Amino acid sequence: MRLVADGVTEIDTMLGGWEHATAGFLVDGPAPVLVETGSQSSVPVLLDALGSLGIGPEDLAGVAVTHVHLDHAGGVGDVARAFPRATVYVHALGARHLVDPSRLVASAARVYGDLLDDLYGRLEPTDAARVRVLGDGETVELGGGRVLTAIDSPGHAKHHLGYHDSTSGVLFAGDAAGVRLPDGGPLRPAAPPPDFDLDLALGSLSRFAARRPAAIALAHYGIVPGTPEELLAEADAALRAWAGEAAAAYREGRDIAAALAERFASDADAADPAVRAKLETLNGFHSNAAGFRRWLETRQDAPEGPSSVPSHHEHGTDHERSDRVAAQQEQARPR
Ligand SMILES: [Zn+2]
Repeated sequence: MRLVADGVTEIDTMLGGWEHATAGFLVDGPAPVLVETGSQSSVPVLLDALGSLGIGPEDLAGVAVTHVHLDHAGGVGDVARAFPRATVYVHALGARHLVDPSRLVASAARVYGDLLDDLYGRLEPTDAARVRVLGDGETVELGGGRVLTAIDSPGHAKHHLGYHDSTSGVLFAGDAAGVRLPDGGPLRPAAPPPDFDLDLALGSLSRFAARRPAAIALAHYGIVPGTPEELLAEADAALRAWAGEAAAAYREGRDIAAALAERFASDADAADPAVRAKLETLNGFHSNAAGFRRWLETRQDAPEGPSSVPSHHEHGTDHERSDRVAAQQEQARPR
């Protein structure tokens, strides 16, 4: 835990036992709000951290969900139970999955197999009466004039919100600006299936820039050094470069994951096998390749995509399964 901005404490949720992989943020005020819970497997670490920050069971006023992927929101049901006064804030398209997670969890189980329970855990339901949907521009009041403003930010997922803190100026970007680990090389886009959409993702970066934030905090991981303008420009360029590479590989019938890895695996990624494993698990080339492929396959005739179940980052450490999925998709692709 550390104070990273005025009244903003970063909590390392230690997903998979890794340091600096997945963060939650406690935003202080008379009515404090937790942004991102992390996975269900991280709940004990998170509750310990909140306890040592002096947040008792009656104290937490809100849990702000950026999106309902299990590494971000898997802990929501447990956290809501531990803090009975907390309201859970979420995008309209994510709310029903918090209330009834059965489809989301079943879908995750198909993608992850054993890793679902070994790494993430699941997602307990939250009473619908405690869930409040936020639209773009709506705010969460923390008291003393402090507000978090929700920013509709689709692209990574249809149901993604960023949150802009009025006091510190920090913008909590979830996964919408990509993944950049302190020890893990340059920023990578996060483009998982089935929702990824390039134009929406680029538009969300512009919406973030228009807020003129003082800093940007990524779920993976933390406040990024440098200016927000630099980060958002880097995220924009990375998205375009990765999508361009994926589209070229797709057109030419090459393996998209291999093409992305060949072009974008950095020296920093390669230097340390532990860092590489962490990055591949959170936001691997296979997951991105599957997301880009689905986007390429569906964007012309079915821009909405057929599935309404939120996706899961297809697991990078589970290459066998990823390869099988990729092979199936490859066979299904019209030539
Ligand atoms: Zn995500």
